[in-house]
Amino acid sequence: MISLLACPGLVYIAPCVCTGLQVKFAPDGVTLHEQQTRSSQLRESPKFILISIFDADKKMVKWHCIVSQPFAENTYIATVAGRSDCLVIDPGFEPDKVFQSLESEDLVPSAILNTHGHSDHIAGNAALKERWPTAPLVIGHGDANKLTDPELNLSATYGLPMVSPPADSMLAAGDVFADAGLEFEVRETPGHSPGHIVFICKQHDPWVVFGGDVLFRGSIGRTDFPDGNHEHLITAVREQLFTLPDTTIVLPGHGPSTTVGEEKATNPFFA
Ligand SMILES: [Zn+2]
Repeated sequence: MISLLACPGLVYIAPCVCTGLQVKFAPDGVTLHEQQTRSSQLRESPKFILISIFDADKKMVKWHCIVSQPFAENTYIATVAGRSDCLVIDPGFEPDKVFQSLESEDLVPSAILNTHGHSDHIAGNAALKERWPTAPLVIGHGDANKLTDPELNLSATYGLPMVSPPADSMLAAGDVFADAGLEFEVRETPGHSPGHIVFICKQHDPWVVFGGDVLFRGSIGRTDFPDGNHEHLITAVREQLFTLPDTTIVLPGHGPSTTVGEEKATNPFFA
């Protein structure tokens, strides 16, 4: 499902609820065919990625990415090698894929994290909570109301009304979330959604940030929702993400991973 919306200076190619693939075109323009090709490439990759990094204690930290259809949303599983507990970040509309991945590695989630409350990032919450009811559901305080409201989480708008269990814990800027041997600094990044947060793991080099729908490879999150704000998003990226080391790996909510340095150098929204 691709919708094409035009507004002054920008063209949005939006393959999903909040996929947020925004493409800013060069002054001489890009043909529609090329636009669709770029969109298709982002939607197709990655099918599955696994990033392994050793922390200061030489423990391997693994980040799995599982792509959930129909919105090509990236769900992440984060775990420290040798441990049976893990974190699940933004479980989407295909929780069975998450179950299969967890079972294949004998992992049990100790918490479920949401970067924001749009439906494609929270649709799997209920299934995971049903299976592991003691795993707390964690989200930014500003987006917690979206969990239980199909209008606010945009699922009703797209004909797939759903709700999540309510939040067990809410985070704010400056909080540190620690569980399953992993530790994250929390930063607030409004614009795509007012209560959007990102999770930054600094326990290895390079750092890793779970960025949700804020910053994509060559693009940014959509801001054409009733509570979206383009200026807020640009400011959030500049102040909360571009202040991280250039080597920081960005694991986005859609499409392939990137780095802070690559986006600072090449992302057309920050030229
Ligand atoms: Zn979103």
